[in-house]
Amino acid sequence: MKNEARRDFLKKGLFGMAGAAMLPSAISGKTLKTSSFQSDNKLVYRKLGKTGLDVPVISLGAGDTNNPNLVKACHEAGIRLFFSATYYGEGNNEKMLGDALRGFPRDSFFVGTAAIPKGIDHKNGVYTKDSTREGLVKTVEDSLKRFGFDHMDFLLLPFAAKRESVFFEPLLRAMEDLKKQGKTRFIGIASHSWVDEALHAAADTKIYDMAMPAYNFRAENKQAMNEALGYAANSGMGIIAMKTQAGGYWDKERTQPINSKATLRWVLQNEHVTSVVSGMSKFEELQQNLALMNELKFTDQDMKDLKLAYNDNTPGMYCKQCRECIPQCKRNLDIPTLMRSYMYAYGYRNLEHAQHTLLASGIAEDPCSDCSTCNIKCTSGFNVKEKIQDIARLRNVPVDLIKG
Ligand code: SF4
Ligand code: SF4
Repeated sequence: MKNEARRDFLKKGLFGMAGAAMLPSAISGKTLKTSSFQSDNKLVYRKLGKTGLDVPVISLGAGDTNNPNLVKACHEAGIRLFFSATYYGEGNNEKMLGDALRGFPRDSFFVGTAAIPKGIDHKNGVYTKDSTREGLVKTVEDSLKRFGFDHMDFLLLPFAAKRESVFFEPLLRAMEDLKKQGKTRFIGIASHSWVDEALHAAADTKIYDMAMPAYNFRAENKQAMNEALGYAANSGMGIIAMKTQAGGYWDKERTQPINSKATLRWVLQNEHVTSVVSGMSKFEELQQNLALMNELKFTDQDMKDLKLAYNDNTPGMYCKQCRECIPQCKRNLDIPTLMRSYMYAYGYRNLEHAQHTLLASGIAEDPCSDCSTCNIKCTSGFNVKEKIQDIARLRNVPVDLIKG
């Protein structure tokens, strides 16, 4: 069965290439250099809300990193915040991060993870009866074992969305307890959808120290987002932005990269944002991020490069998670989650993460079969049906094949 699926996948090829060979070497991690990283760049620091920590404006989001030498190089260059998630690489990403950081003094870095609870209803932006307090505590304890630390610095509750999800009692109490028990120094939420609502709610709980919202130049309602960021920051929460690259490319073939420096400058021009998690997988990206700290001013050229200076409707890879498509879909599919999976596959080339997200959407084998006409008008201009049919093929690809 596995061989059959493997043969089928190789024949069709998600990217038109064969198997693990399609993964860039930076992601497979096999060709990255071992190096002691030297940098003359000046680091720029901001204060992370009520945590009182001064941290560089660039942090590592380790989801696309599987080379411990790159993690060490980040630390040697002065990066201080390192984030993973319990589901990245089925826990292996946390292990890699812990192994890489363990040789450094424990007070010289801050490590955090997004601990995913069971039973998330992504489509409706809520947790469910399967999202239990005990389940989350166990997830965090397992995470600490993989890191190899007795505590973490940041524990994030991911997929916080609607207000009721942020106030969902079992998880709220679990987060509070884990902090009181010293298993984490600080707690926060991470949010991809209903982000402005989640930020307001997190601030109103008065228990959270920080938030990690999806925030980039393609955000759906920038005014509401900026207002929510200000609300959270003024309540004392530190803000660390994610998804800042909006998929990284304008096209799925990755022939048109988005100006990554411009994207970071766009985010960091918001004074409420303390730092961004950058998904680095190459030493060159670290070098570029360090250099960026010496040129943080958002320029007119950046405006043009990000297509903000004029009315350009290039769809790009980033789904704004606005959910306008869901009521238009005859099968009420969780299209925003499917589109995130598509971005992880084609923008990040992280098939493991893409498949995890795809399965979380509850997608059926061939979700658009027998649905001949698709009249969905996506606010980003995506051909939704085409993208769903494309990414749905990843559903049954054996995970071993994806890992290479
Ligand atoms: S083709 Fe697919 S995305 Fe479009 S309406 Fe039908 S089920 Fe929904
Ligand atoms: S697919 Fe389009 S309409 Fe649907 S959530 Fe994404 S951006 Fe919005």
